[in-house]
Amino acid sequence: MSLRPTLDFLLHHWLAAESLNQRERFKDHSRETFDAVLDTCERIAREKYAPFNRLVDTQEPQFDGERVILPQATHDAQKAYAESGMLSAAQDYEIGGMQLPYTVEASANAFFAMASVSIGSGMLTTGNANLLMKHGTEAQKRVFALNEFSGRFSGTMCLSEPQAGSSLSDVVTRAVPDGEGFEADPLGPRYRLKGNKMWISAGEHELTENIIHLVLAKIPDADGKLIPGVKGISLFIVPKKLVDTEGQPTGERNDVALAGLNHKCGWRGTTNTLLNFGEGKYPVRGEAGAVGYLVGQPGKGLQCMFHMMNEARIGVGMAATMLGMAGYHASLDYAKNRPQGRPVTTGGKDAAAPQVRIIEHADVKRMLLAQKSYCEGALALELYCARLVDEQHTGAPDAADEARLLLEVLTPIAKSWPSEWCLEANSLAIQIHGGYGYTRDFPVEQYWRDNRLNMIHEGTHGIQGMDLLGRKVLMENGKGLQLLAGRINATIQRAIQVPELAAHANALGQALAQVGAATKAAWATGNPGHALANAVPYLQAFGHTVLAWIWLDVALASRDASESSARTGRLAAARFFFHYELPKIGAWLQVVRERDLTCAELPEAAF
Ligand SMILES: Cc1cc2nc3c(=O)[nH]c(=O)nc-3n(C[C@H](O)[C@H](O)[C@H](O)COP(=O)(O)OP(=O)(O)OC[C@H]3O[C@@H](n4cnc5c(N)ncnc54)[C@H](O)[C@@H]3O)c2cc1C
Repeated sequence: MSLRPTLDFLLHHWLAAESLNQRERFKDHSRETFDAVLDTCERIAREKYAPFNRLVDTQEPQFDGERVILPQATHDAQKAYAESGMLSAAQDYEIGGMQLPYTVEASANAFFAMASVSIGSGMLTTGNANLLMKHGTEAQKRVFALNEFSGRFSGTMCLSEPQAGSSLSDVVTRAVPDGEGFEADPLGPRYRLKGNKMWISAGEHELTENIIHLVLAKIPDADGKLIPGVKGISLFIVPKKLVDTEGQPTGERNDVALAGLNHKCGWRGTTNTLLNFGEGKYPVRGEAGAVGYLVGQPGKGLQCMFHMMNEARIGVGMAATMLGMAGYHASLDYAKNRPQGRPVTTGGKDAAAPQVRIIEHADVKRMLLAQKSYCEGALALELYCARLVDEQHTGAPDAADEARLLLEVLTPIAKSWPSEWCLEANSLAIQIHGGYGYTRDFPVEQYWRDNRLNMIHEGTHGIQGMDLLGRKVLMENGKGLQLLAGRINATIQRAIQVPELAAHANALGQALAQVGAATKAAWATGNPGHALANAVPYLQAFGHTVLAWIWLDVALASRDASESSARTGRLAAARFFFHYELPKIGAWLQVVRERDLTCAELPEAAF
C-alpha cells in the first residue's frame, strides 16, 4: 500500500496546490516539478530510510568517551537527504533553494517520517536555519544558516534545562559579555554562556562538520541577577566548533560538552543529550565559558524562538501523523493475511468452516477505519495548515493576515491532535496484530514507542491545552476563533446541500455551537484557575470538531472524484468520524462548561 495516492488527492484535488504557481514566488513551478520532488523523496525514503528503521531502534547511539557513534545507515540517510536539496527547499534560488511552497515541502517530508522518523533530524536543522534567516544578521545568515542549508552543519534548539521544561521562564543559563569590544564581533555581539541544557535532540554526533546550537540564556543585570520571567531571555548561536567569518573552522573547540546521552523509549535514531555549556572542559582562549553570538535583541529570545517553534509544531504533528499512518498500513496488511475465527452469521458459527482473514470481522474493520479516520484526517489537517503557511508568506495582505490568525488557533491542534489520536491509531495497530503486535518481530510496537514522544515535546499536551483556551481563542478579541468558525460554517453551507452529507453538516454545526458555548462558559467567572482546569478536555473537543470539519470538507471534495474504492474509503472514514468520534465531545465539553473542579480541588493527601 502506498501513501502517494492519498497525498496526491489531498494536495491536488482537495487543496489545489498547483494554483500556488500563479504567485510570483512559485511561478517556475508546475505539477511536474511538484511531482518530481515527491518522487525523489519517496525514493530516498524507500531506499535509505525504511530499510533501517529497526536498525536505528536496536543500535542506539553510543558514547565512547570521546565521540557519539551512530550506525552508518544514519550517515547515509542524512547525506541523501542533504543531497536532495530538501534542507533548503523553501529558500530563494539565489542561496541555492528551490522556492518550493511549504505545502509541497511538508508533503515530501511525510515520506521520511513514515519510513523512519528518527533517522534524520533535518527538521531541526531547517528550523534553526530558517530562524536565522529571519532574525540573524547578514553574517550570521551567511556563516551559519547557509552552511546548514547545504548540509555541511546541522542545527539544534536548546531551550529545556533540567529544572525548566514547560516553564521556560525558569531557565538559568547565563550569558555575560565576552570582554572588551564584545559588541563588535563580526558574527554578532559575543557572550560567554554557562549552564546545562537537557533533552537536546541531535546535540552531539559526527554526522556533520559542525553543530550550530541555538541557545536560550539570560543576560544578568548590573547587579549580576537574572531577570525573572521570559522577558530576560535572549537567544545565542553557540557553534560546537568556532568558525571565522567565512564559516571556516578556526581550530578551536567551543566550550560545549556532552554530559550524557538519554536512553529513550523510542525515536532512538536521533541522539538526545544533556549538554554542559561553559563548564571549562574545552576552555576557549584559556577561559571557561561557551562562546555565543547574540541573535536579535537582548530579552527577545523567546519571541525569535517562537518563529522556529511554530514550524516545528506543524512538523511534530506531521511526524505523529505519519507514524500513525505507518501503523495503519502495517496492520491493514496484517489483517488481510491473518486467518483467525469464523464470521458470526444468523445461524451461529460453523466450526467446520475454514477460518476467515481477520479483516472480515466487524471489530477489526472498526479498528482499521478508526486508524484511517485519525491518520488521513490528521494528514489533511497538517497539509491545510501548511497551505496557510504559504498564504501567510505569499498571500495578499488581508489573506496573509487571516492565515496568520487561523494558524495561531490551529497550531495547538495541528501539534496535539495527531500526537494523541495517531498514537491511539498505533495502539489499535498493535491490537490488530494480537500477541504478535506485542513483540519486536513486527514493526507496530516501535511505531507506538516512537510516537509516544509527540505528546511530550514541543509543548506538552497540557501546555497546548492551556495555550489554546488561555490565549489563542481569546487573542485579538477572539478574531481567530471567529475566522475559524467562518470557515467551518462555509463548509457546512456547502455540505448541507448534499443529501448524503447533510446530517454530518448539522452535527458539525451543533458541535461548533457547543465549543463556542463552552469557551464562553469556561471564562464566565474570569477566573483562569477555573477556566483552565479542564484545558485538555477542551483541546480534545476542539480538536475533534476541527477534524470533523476537515473530514466534511474532504468528503465534499471526494464526491467530485470519480467512483473508486479510494473514494468509498474516504467517505466511510468521514462517516466513521461523525458517527463514532464527534459525539465524544459532549463529555469533554461538559466539564469545561461546568468548570468542574473535581481534579483541581482534590487535596494531595486524597490521591
Ligand atoms: C526525546 C525528547 C526530545 C526533546 N528534544 C528537545 C530539544 O531538542 N530541545 C529542547 O529544548 N527540548 C527538548 N525536549 C524537551 C521537551 O520539550 C520537554 O520534555 C517538555 O517541554 C516538557 O518538559 P519537562 O520534561 O521538564 O516536563 P515538565 O515541564 O516537568 O512537565 C511534566 C508534566 O507536568 C505538566 N505541567 C507542567 N507545567 C504545567 C502547568 N503549568 N500546568 C499544567 N500542567 C503542567 C506537563 O504537562 C507534564 O505532563 C525533548 C524531550 C524529549 C523527551
